[in-house]
Amino acid sequence: MPRDRILILGGTRDAREIADALVARGRNVITSLAGATTQPVLPSGDVRIGGFGGVDGLKSYLEAEQIGLAIDATHPFAARMSAQAFEACQSSGVQLIRFERATWSAAEGDDWTHVSSPAEAARTVPAGARVLLTTGRKDLQPFFDRHDISGIARMIEAPPADPPANWEILRERPPFGVQDETALMAANAITHLVTKNAGGAATEAKLKAARELKIPVIMVTRPTKPDLPCFETVGKLLVVVEGVLSP
Ligand code: NAP
Repeated sequence: MPRDRILILGGTRDAREIADALVARGRNVITSLAGATTQPVLPSGDVRIGGFGGVDGLKSYLEAEQIGLAIDATHPFAARMSAQAFEACQSSGVQLIRFERATWSAAEGDDWTHVSSPAEAARTVPAGARVLLTTGRKDLQPFFDRHDISGIARMIEAPPADPPANWEILRERPPFGVQDETALMAANAITHLVTKNAGGAATEAKLKAARELKIPVIMVTRPTKPDLPCFETVGKLLVVVEGVLSP
């Protein structure tokens, strides 16, 4: 029996798009979610939720589910899952490819400072700044520890603990539009935008708004992921999937 089941490591809009496209082509797909979001938007096909239990857990899963191809479509900052997928697939002989959105790049007139971690971003923000912070609920503490800055921290899920009085939590799910982002920053006297270089159209509007308002951006660069065949568009990835799975 050929192994024709495809495992998509998800948690992103891109992973959903890939699953929907493959299911529409009649492929046997299961998407895996970490379980970080309480009400995730689900893709077509089968879905499983929760960690695998490290590399060994994923290896057992690949065998039990007779996975023939794995697609890492996790968020660019989900470095642990990508590293574990690489190791598990390599030792199980399962082909692994990755979808990775293009990074955002600064345009003329932008004032970007590149940093390597959210903690470094927090150290880089100048005293007195009003920040729009979009790095996610896991990366809040270094900012909350600064008593000389304030602002709005935006995220989908509630934060693990209440914020200090100088921070407001804004719970919203992308996509966001330029007009709304500009209005949000202007109405809250934002002086700095702090974001991860996630890439993608759904959350890019904040960068356009910052450009319009001449607000400096502190940009967290992506972690390094294992070297794999990597695709920036769903269309290109689908062509390769068909090539791998066709007889
Ligand atoms: P991570 O640090 O790379 O992974 C932490 C652990 O979560 C992994 O060791 C694994 O547990 C489990 N895990 C992660 N992705 C999984 C998946 N697709 N299916 C099953 N288990 C998964 O990941 P993270 O940064 O916490 O992100 C968690 C999820 O949220 C990812 O799926 C990612 O695509 C999504 N996400 C992340 C960000 C971000 O900024 N990091 C933003 C948007 C969405 P085991 O070791 O037990 O297998």
